[in-house]
Amino acid sequence: MGAGLEAGASLRTKFNKEIRVVKQLGDGSQGIVYAIDYDGRPMALKWYRPNVFYDRQKFIDNLRNNIMSGKPTDDFLWPVDMVEVMGGSFGYVMDLRPEGFVEARELFLHPNLFPSYRRAIDACMNVVSAFNVLHSKGYCYQDVSGGNFFVNPHSGQVLICDNDNVAPAGIDTGIRGTPRFMAPEIVVENSVPSVQSDRHSLAVLMFMMLCVQHPLEGVRFTKAGSLDPTMQKRLYGIEPVFIMDPDITTNRPDPAFPNALKVWPCLPEHMRRIFLRAFSQNALKNPNRRPSEMDWIRELVRFRSEVVNCVCGNEVFLENARPRTCDKPSCGRRVGTALRADLPGYSLPFVDDTRIYRCQTGVCDANVALEPLVWVLASRERPDVLGVRNVSRAPWGVSQGASIHMVAPRQTVMVIPDMELRLNEERIHISRNV
Ligand SMILES: [Zn+2]
Repeated sequence: MGAGLEAGASLRTKFNKEIRVVKQLGDGSQGIVYAIDYDGRPMALKWYRPNVFYDRQKFIDNLRNNIMSGKPTDDFLWPVDMVEVMGGSFGYVMDLRPEGFVEARELFLHPNLFPSYRRAIDACMNVVSAFNVLHSKGYCYQDVSGGNFFVNPHSGQVLICDNDNVAPAGIDTGIRGTPRFMAPEIVVENSVPSVQSDRHSLAVLMFMMLCVQHPLEGVRFTKAGSLDPTMQKRLYGIEPVFIMDPDITTNRPDPAFPNALKVWPCLPEHMRRIFLRAFSQNALKNPNRRPSEMDWIRELVRFRSEVVNCVCGNEVFLENARPRTCDKPSCGRRVGTALRADLPGYSLPFVDDTRIYRCQTGVCDANVALEPLVWVLASRERPDVLGVRNVSRAPWGVSQGASIHMVAPRQTVMVIPDMELRLNEERIHISRNV
């Protein structure tokens, strides 16, 4: 059998299910993706081209292991069954990509597909928390790139595909990654992909999502002309320099590509700090110095809560709930909020839709970091009246002056300045933001 499958072709899977090829959906370097009927259900089949493997049997064994162990979270389009036929061709079955999802690289080119910046932050949060689970199960992904993720720009939901790459950390399946996303130590061919190299690729992906520019592609990239393998090795491997590096100014963004120049000064300082850490010479050259998924989750959760809309429609980032001038040059209004929430480490604007998660109220395990605790809701009749809802599974307390009362899960109470939320050991004070 050749590389391709004919529409109508019928095959039997490892789990003894009957599949029928419906039509071709996509064509990549490794293989072709088909829409199939899988035992009566519409699904997808990735069918490999022959001779694309470094070690075919190892690849098949790894794929089988992934199928048997099941998907880490619903954010993964995970292999669920596989097909092997005489002649050595094979493929795996997965769910179809649902409606409304686009490839992440589309969002790098057309960031306006996100209806709001907050949704871009949500997408980053979802990617990094999915990787948090994947890494905690001992896997590494090996090939993070803009082509392996689907994002629903309206919900911020992500779907991570091409999970045939996923392997236990330390196992060499021959995958090296995608140029521009590979960690420097992989580009210079010193090591095989690891949890730490995934972390570099994730940081690149998030910078591209939030600053709409590649973090290492400044003037050295635009002046390079052709990106031959030697130049690629230099820019992404041997001498990578962050375009915003505070000390090395030889690779600043080219003014002809000003996206990062526009976004960077508007970012809250804590977000600039984590990007500076992720792309510091220290982290670029020492894989163990890269921020972990939990480090990213903490900053992204905080960042999400700092996004406030100006009346002109522009989104403004209020670090520590401090009022600031709208960044849109034609607007220039002062943007601030009437209330703020004082958390253990920082303050947040306290407005409609503010959410507070477990990882914001003190030390916690990674698996409960994104457990929601508090959700702020504006009254439908009077949008200036706010309520605070207990969205956790346990009751918490509210104190106003000397009186304290319990708020049961799903219960909402009206917000009054100077009230205090008592979540276990932690206190969140709601203050007037003057
Ligand atoms: Zn404005």
